Amino acid sequence: MTEVTEPPTKKPKMAEASLENFIENIKNSKKNLMAILSDEFTKPTQFTQVYVGGVNNVQDLSKIIMTLNEKLPLKELQHLKRARKHEVILCSVQYLNTQTQKTIQEYIKEDVYELKDAFKYFKVTSLPAVPPKLKKQQQEFSRVWSCNFHPNAYLEKLCGDQFFSINELIEHRCYMAIAFEVANYYLSKLKDNLLMSDVSESNVNATVVVDPTIKSVVAISYDNRENHPTQHSAMLAIDNVAKTQNGGAWNTADKSGIDNELQSHIKKKFANVKFGTRNYLTKEVLNEQKKNASESPYLCTGYYVYMIREPCVMCSMGLVHARANRVFFCFKNNLKGALSSKTKLHCVPSLNHHFEVFTEFL
Ligand SMILES: [Zn+2]
Repeated sequence: MTEVTEPPTKKPKMAEASLENFIENIKNSKKNLMAILSDEFTKPTQFTQVYVGGVNNVQDLSKIIMTLNEKLPLKELQHLKRARKHEVILCSVQYLNTQTQKTIQEYIKEDVYELKDAFKYFKVTSLPAVPPKLKKQQQEFSRVWSCNFHPNAYLEKLCGDQFFSINELIEHRCYMAIAFEVANYYLSKLKDNLLMSDVSESNVNATVVVDPTIKSVVAISYDNRENHPTQHSAMLAIDNVAKTQNGGAWNTADKSGIDNELQSHIKKKFANVKFGTRNYLTKEVLNEQKKNASESPYLCTGYYVYMIREPCVMCSMGLVHARANRVFFCFKNNLKGALSSKTKLHCVPSLNHHFEVFTEFL
């Protein structure tokens, strides 16, 4: 009897989410956001080779450490404790190689004469090359050697998966949903029945700038790169913010940071969202009224920026110059993204301003 096998059944294709439903999900999801951090938080520990000596007599340890600190200071390895049990760090292998042709035995015997009989053995061992940033790194380090570490409560929280409270999360998700609603508004003029892929698989980008101190939308923009090579949505958003401060370079329709018709469209969908800025006061007025500079907004100082897609290098640098406080994005931009995909501009130490970046809306 031959066995009859059923032909494999095709999985029914999942109906793709409409853009409207997708926006609802962005808004209502309870999933917390994740910070994009510099590599020193996420990369595996880097090790460096050091000479370690096993001391003959543990009672001499503090004297040995004092002599070593004087004659062979640890310099770039300050994060490591000098001793662990009956062993002490002498110096890094690289240090000895750049100082002399001698072996460690010869060097101690001839150049640290006081300790010539202090050690029963010498060995090379690998120890963490940079200080730990987080408790979990410190725990990993402590398995190989003791190190100096002062935990930073903010960093610990930032690296965790519960950074934002429920209420904060609701706000961030709402503003991100507005960024998608901006795309929905413009795209629906070109096409009916928009799907999520009309945004996710295209170059569409929109930006919403928020002043968190008054929980208000300050500026909104939609990408115009097809007509103007530098009018990416973040650049337009920065220009729109400047317009709220008697500035702005581009003659776009959004004369006051937000196009009027778009604003009333968003108000219909997000009834509780506030629009507008704190009073902008020029430097002269601030001086005249003897007011502090913090009483008037300056570029994007303190502002949160919500974008559909990870910004490119130009836009990210624009946001650095504009002094944005936090940048949130939903989709990665694998080819050009400058905050995660291709580089992490916000983590470059030599820049004079740094903002935090959050993602994982999906
Ligand atoms: Zn860009």
